[in-house]
Amino acid sequence: MTQSLEGGCICGAVRYRIDGAPTYAGNCHCRDCQRAIGASVVTWVGARYPDFHVTKGEITYCSTSPGVQRGFCGHCGTSLTYGGDAWEELGITAASLDTPSAITPESNVFLDHRQPWQPYDTALRNYPRFP
Ligand SMILES: [Zn+2]
Ligand SMILES: [Zn+2]
Repeated sequence: MTQSLEGGCICGAVRYRIDGAPTYAGNCHCRDCQRAIGASVVTWVGARYPDFHVTKGEITYCSTSPGVQRGFCGHCGTSLTYGGDAWEELGITAASLDTPSAITPESNVFLDHRQPWQPYDTALRNYPRFP
């Protein structure tokens, strides 16, 4: 399967492209994602670093825990990426894709942190923490 996914922030200052198929798509319920993104659950799409290209503007980074950077648009604040120094894959917010419906989340992680008012699909691969 070859495809190219494009996305960007809400103000249009940052645009990106993911070449090739995403390595994963999953929902994270962890408290760090909740607070950083301001949402009860965040769907991430994985991409190998060489497959992720910023095509317009630049991503601003904030280290929210040691060795981990969350990327966002420095102008409008849209959350875009989540990556670690030692990771082989970059996480990209699925909702910042131009066509978020192009991916299908296959798992829920950090269900231990799930808010009681946030439903989830019990048919997916589900984990109390990170698998
Ligand atoms: Zn922006
Ligand atoms: Zn998370």
